[in-house]
Amino acid sequence: MKIAVLALQGAFLEHERMLERLGAEWFEIRQKADWEQPKDGLIIPGGESTTMLKLLHDLDLFDDIRAAIAGGLPVFGTCAGLILLAKSVAGDDIERLGTMDMEVCRNAYGRQLGSFYTEAPMKGVGEQVPMTFIRAPYINRVGEGVEVLAEVDGHIVAARQDHQFVTSFHPELNNDTAVHAYFLRMIRE
Ligand code: GLN
Repeated sequence: MKIAVLALQGAFLEHERMLERLGAEWFEIRQKADWEQPKDGLIIPGGESTTMLKLLHDLDLFDDIRAAIAGGLPVFGTCAGLILLAKSVAGDDIERLGTMDMEVCRNAYGRQLGSFYTEAPMKGVGEQVPMTFIRAPYINRVGEGVEVLAEVDGHIVAARQDHQFVTSFHPELNNDTAVHAYFLRMIRE
């Protein structure tokens, strides 16, 4: 199994370490030529979604990535990655990848609660999943085909729509590989 990791900006190295621990191969997408390699899945990391979006356009990766996901390439988006995959973002109408039927709220926890750690149950993963939030979004609304996997304080923080999987927290920043293992299982299914 070989996973492409979008490595333009943000917390991509930590995802690579997780994949290694689970015995999966990975390679980085840093420019358009990298995208040509065969892959079984894609990880879009956390970081700054506005910057990542700009880089996707500058490097001419935007259309290829969107088409691949729309065509069924399994994808895992964390935090900024989740924002890029959302069909809509509350309060703006910037065009993003938009392949997943949900509305998200960016920087949803405000300044005071910008970053925090908690543990919560997550369907298919565990009863006490470590969750690190960093200026995180949450999901306001999901479409019919989207399964809610986890909620924290009444807000959706993990969801799945067929081959698309997102968390608003950063599972790669904790020691627990269970969330990444879920993604790899999802690809095998
Ligand atoms: N606040 C960031 C954004 O809007 C996301 C933060 C993160 O990925 N940790 O893109």
